[in-house]
Amino acid sequence: MANDKKTLTTAFGAPVGDDLNSHTAGARGPVLMQDVHLLEKLGHFDRERIPERVVHAKGAGAYGYFECTADVSQYTRAGFLTKGKKTDVFARFSTVGGEKGSADAERDPRGFAVKFYTEEGNYDLVGNNTPVFFIRDPLKFPDFIHTQKRNPKTNLKDADMFWDFLSLTPESIHQVTVLFSDRGTPATYRNMNGYSSHTYLWYNAAGEKFWVQYHFKTDQGIKNFTRQEAAAMRSADPDHATRDLFQAIEQGDSPSWTLEMQIMPYEQGLNYRYDIFDITKVWPHADVPPIVIGKMVLNRNPENYFAEVEQAAFNPSNFVPGIAPSADKMLQGRLFSYHDTHIHRLGSNYHLIPVNSPKHRPEASYQRDGAMRVDNGGGSGPNYWPNSFNGPGPDPDVRAPFLPVEGVAGPQPYPHPNDDFEQAGALYSKVMTDEDRTNLVGNIVEHLAGAQRRIQLRQAAVFYKAHPEYGTRVAEGLGLPVEEVQRLAAMTSEERAKATAA
Ligand code: NDP
Repeated sequence: MANDKKTLTTAFGAPVGDDLNSHTAGARGPVLMQDVHLLEKLGHFDRERIPERVVHAKGAGAYGYFECTADVSQYTRAGFLTKGKKTDVFARFSTVGGEKGSADAERDPRGFAVKFYTEEGNYDLVGNNTPVFFIRDPLKFPDFIHTQKRNPKTNLKDADMFWDFLSLTPESIHQVTVLFSDRGTPATYRNMNGYSSHTYLWYNAAGEKFWVQYHFKTDQGIKNFTRQEAAAMRSADPDHATRDLFQAIEQGDSPSWTLEMQIMPYEQGLNYRYDIFDITKVWPHADVPPIVIGKMVLNRNPENYFAEVEQAAFNPSNFVPGIAPSADKMLQGRLFSYHDTHIHRLGSNYHLIPVNSPKHRPEASYQRDGAMRVDNGGGSGPNYWPNSFNGPGPDPDVRAPFLPVEGVAGPQPYPHPNDDFEQAGALYSKVMTDEDRTNLVGNIVEHLAGAQRRIQLRQAAVFYKAHPEYGTRVAEGLGLPVEEVQRLAAMTSEERAKATAA
């Protein structure tokens, strides 16, 4: 470990004479209040922990670079997406539901967050290793996460909560199918893809607009654990993915990902056969073939986990000119929630923590003061706008194009006519191999077996709606009557919920 200091000091720099024996009144007597070094040491130790992330608590991170390898200036004016340009990045991978000490090999989506330190400020892309998500409205997010965590009474993970919510929320079927495939237990963080999952807006220098989805494809190849392999790894090495990433980079075996983009012109996207703002849907590759635009390489480990990984804060609302949000409701909710939770976890000046600071475009704002404002906080410059004292002013040239909106205000579901089962059914029947399907059904049966029978029946009907064979195999695996599952599958969601109520 690097440590240039020769003499131990207190936090305020006073040299310390003894760090093994507390001050006492007599060799066998009580400890003295005047042992200021002891009091400082214990007091700081008592405050070592900061709040754990509510989601994505367990993670590993590394530095590297992103190199843009294609000319995409016809789609975006983002400076870091100029052909040949290299941009420093910090990436963090994580599980979602487990606590900070939970096992890396749990079945869970994996977070895939990348911070690009661009010359136009930080750009954060906060994705997952899955191209879709369980729900499409942020109002459901706290409920959904509660069901993936612990029962409020037993403090145990609870299959009833887990499957009750999902079976009453059939829009989850696509993501449930990905999660319970072996992609739900990636072999390492290096062996998985990362997806934006959301649709974003790109716009070029002329103001022309495009809808995009990001796909980071692993250059190490997709490699997953079976449920048996994952279970064995959870007990053999709960930190296996953290260890793997650190060791690979330490040994100079830098993992990399190729960035592919799906890009759709603005009008085409609005009229596309799937709702591009619905995160439970993908854009089939045959409709919108992905194009390669760059590569991300991770080649440097952090020096200090707490400073650089635990305190890393990614925020989907960190955009750069050329990139803007879409109307995806989940994304809109995240634009609020990430910044909000970072303020809670790290404080209102979390952007001053070095890993979060914009390296190449320092802050020039009128936000002032707050706890732990550890730089000069704007110094003697003006703290208001407009001012005539040479303070920073807005640049109209970096405004994103204005987008039209229409309709009435109020709580409203997505208007599109897509059914929620088709793409999950296609994944099951057209993309998966026989072995994938067998593993998928086995993974589901093992987990769903822990839920009450009425919830099993309801969820089996949801699988049946995605594909009859899928639902039938799950029902058979659980020993459920297939005719009953078929009967429930023929109902509307509301009828099915009523028929399977407690
Ligand atoms: P394609 O045949 O063109 O693409 C299928 C894609 O599915 C593959 O490229 C691969 O994505 C991914 N895939 C392969 N095996 C699995 C698995 N076991 N679990 C999850 N994903 C897997 O078909 P479409 O584009 O028409 O999509 C068909 C279905 O494939 C979708 O409904 C969706 O479930 C799934 N899919 C589609 C993606 C997309 O963006 N179109 C992305 C990922 C999955 P990859 O190359 O990214 O590894």
